[in-house]
Amino acid sequence: MPSMEFLWLFILYVFFLVLIVSIFCFLSGRSSSRLHHVLHRAEQVASLVLPAWLQRCLGSCFHTRNRAFVMLHLILDTLVFAEYTWEVLDYSLELEINWMLVFLPYILITLNLYCFYICCTTDPGRVTRQNESLCIQVYEYDDIMFHHNNKCPTCHLMKPARSKHCGVCGSCIQRFDHHCVWVNNCIGAQNIRYFLLYLLSLTLTAVSLAAVITVFLLQVVLLSHMMTAAYVDSEGHEDIANLAYVIQHLFLTFPRIVFTLGFLFLLILFLGGYTCFLWYLSITNQTTNEWYKARRIPGAPKGYSRGILGNLKEIFQPYSCYKKER
Ligand SMILES: [Zn+2]
Ligand SMILES: [Zn+2]
Repeated sequence: MPSMEFLWLFILYVFFLVLIVSIFCFLSGRSSSRLHHVLHRAEQVASLVLPAWLQRCLGSCFHTRNRAFVMLHLILDTLVFAEYTWEVLDYSLELEINWMLVFLPYILITLNLYCFYICCTTDPGRVTRQNESLCIQVYEYDDIMFHHNNKCPTCHLMKPARSKHCGVCGSCIQRFDHHCVWVNNCIGAQNIRYFLLYLLSLTLTAVSLAAVITVFLLQVVLLSHMMTAAYVDSEGHEDIANLAYVIQHLFLTFPRIVFTLGFLFLLILFLGGYTCFLWYLSITNQTTNEWYKARRIPGAPKGYSRGILGNLKEIFQPYSCYKKER
């Protein structure tokens, strides 16, 4: 194949990957970021262009609790693991790549799916008439970000400090972080620990898959002596294979494997970055909502930190407004 044609194909491929991963990361992210405003604008434009049925469908995906993204998440997981099992697993074992490394992704995805399931199904910490009085005692009001005697106009309940009303879930959530469409649930006081473990295990799954696939491709390159091979270019000149040639050859020989590897690299980059960000917020005892608000309010207090260990304890042993009631 002429190299220009390959170049265009490759650029198109990278563009497609960046698009998928950006959408993936964006949708898992913050409900009140600047990107949210961009999305809001895009929605306004879409409302002028798209047919009514499609708008209703998109509206129900983003503005009501909906399993569409949970299904999409499971489909993406299945596609990546089907490709891995179908094309990489056998060859990797034949090439004598360490079997523990080859099977590690299956262990990590099992852990990940468990965290995903708990994250989807756990009550994030809804404020109800029954637990309202206990919830408002958990954190002090700073009267800058969170004010005393502030009632939620929708729930008609007192808003505890650090809570926020989620329009999608239709209730105020204790220690609100954000609403995540991928888990079809809010992330709040009672499930942030599962969300952190979910993000960590998903990143590690992607890292382990990428590691096995990279080792596999390197083995193929080494065993086929591709780096020392010569090839005849379109003008009839004989050339020694260089790195660009090897990448082109791998791309054309194992298109699905290389595509999966590209997807995993971008996923690691974006998801890994997001995971680090959320763990940083956790050890400094801030929620995404507070981090975003603090940037807009000059002189806002830097959260509710009790030291790194205290902050982690608060995440992994959250105050329960239910246990105390009994
Ligand atoms: Zn509310
Ligand atoms: Zn929500």
